Amino acid sequence: MKEERYDVVVVGAGPAGSVTAKTAAEHGLDVLLIERNQEIGVPVKCAEGVSKEIEKFVAPDKRWICAEVKGANMYGPDGTKVVLSGEKMEEVGYVLERRIFDKFLASEAARAGAEVRVKTGAHGIIEEDGYAKGVYARAMGEDTRIYAHVVVGADGVESKVGRWAGIKTRLQPSNISVCAEFLMCDIEFNNDYSEFFLGSEIAPKGYAWVFPKGEDCANVGIGIGGDVSDEKHRAIDYLKAFVRSRFPDGKIVAEMYGAVPLSGPIYESVADGLILVGDAARQVNPLTGGGILYAMHAGEIAGDVIAKAVQENNFSKKRLMEYESRWREAFGKRLETGLKAKDFFLNLPDEDLNTLAQSLAGVKIKELSTLALLMELIRRNPKMLLGLAKMLL
Ligand SMILES: Cc1cc2nc3c(=O)[nH]c(=O)nc-3n(C[C@H](O)[C@H](O)[C@H](O)COP(=O)(O)OP(=O)(O)OC[C@H]3O[C@@H](n4cnc5c(N)ncnc54)[C@H](O)[C@@H]3O)c2cc1C
Repeated sequence: MKEERYDVVVVGAGPAGSVTAKTAAEHGLDVLLIERNQEIGVPVKCAEGVSKEIEKFVAPDKRWICAEVKGANMYGPDGTKVVLSGEKMEEVGYVLERRIFDKFLASEAARAGAEVRVKTGAHGIIEEDGYAKGVYARAMGEDTRIYAHVVVGADGVESKVGRWAGIKTRLQPSNISVCAEFLMCDIEFNNDYSEFFLGSEIAPKGYAWVFPKGEDCANVGIGIGGDVSDEKHRAIDYLKAFVRSRFPDGKIVAEMYGAVPLSGPIYESVADGLILVGDAARQVNPLTGGGILYAMHAGEIAGDVIAKAVQENNFSKKRLMEYESRWREAFGKRLETGLKAKDFFLNLPDEDLNTLAQSLAGVKIKELSTLALLMELIRRNPKMLLGLAKMLL
């Protein structure tokens, strides 16, 4: 079998993998980034909404920003509209073109010196003395042993890298959002705002969204709870019903499916010689399903910590734990809050969601972080949300 050697091998060229590879390469490391698909960023499995916090990681570029939005309209099950606007909103600000964005990030990694290889899938890790020492990869039917000081699992929601290293990454159905989405054109809507629709008839244990993609086009999708999804209750059927009622004359030009991990972060994201980033580490806000920016942030931290580990020639779990403590410090609390809020809201009946929406109707909420919205809701509905308040405070 062919053998190769690098300082770092990164499995998966989504935002998490590309930013990790770029950061590690910028520190002068010998980095290989492998992607099983033939084209990075395709197929798109994302609603593509991010806050303007993305500017902390990368300068905005018209090539991969489809639309800029002023805020979000949220609709309760009975249609009550709540207008949310402000600078600090999560998953609202820009709507990306992920097929270009993901390629852009991988190109940035390549420009920094990383080697990028598509059509190359990892199918196991090389282990020696309890340490991950690389991966077995297959490209065009040929197997290669790729040795590396550190293996990075950036292989998304279906991640296997963590499991291969003995980290428990299994997701319960109730902690998965099963999604279907259409790229639609020729539709009439307010393309200054992203829209969210709640209600058990529209999207049980989830929500529907309409994210502007420029002019008369939008990413229109639905995510439902994995525990309520079965042959008779499929996300695609809910999406078709939603589109029939909302955009009966719209044209569907692409259809996409995907899943979002809503478990909150896994209990440990490092092992000897190994780091998990992005969806593979479940770094997604369980309340909103947003994970792009967390993946990028974690990738920056991972690349930095790996560089230090290489310099010190120490790839132990203990050394790599710096990654774990830094990402938890940076955004772990937001994910924990999101998890508590998700678990609370998913158990509320539609009538209660209506009451909550009505309590905010007509109010323009500025400075919309998830926490700010939750605090406003608690302030207006102290009795109903006493349980949530106790969990959060
Ligand atoms: C329907 C849907 C809507 C979403 N909407 C939003 C949103 O609006 N805003 C937001 O912030 N987030 C959203 N998310 C979540 C967001 O897409 C993810 O959090 C983000 O893509 C995570 O990045 P990642 O790099 O960790 O994983 P991914 O982007 O999933 O990348 C993982 C990569 O690894 C590759 N790979 C997997 N296994 C292997 C292997 N064995 N060998 C080689 N390569 C491999 C995959 O092909 C893939 O390219 C959404 C997700 C879904 C499914």
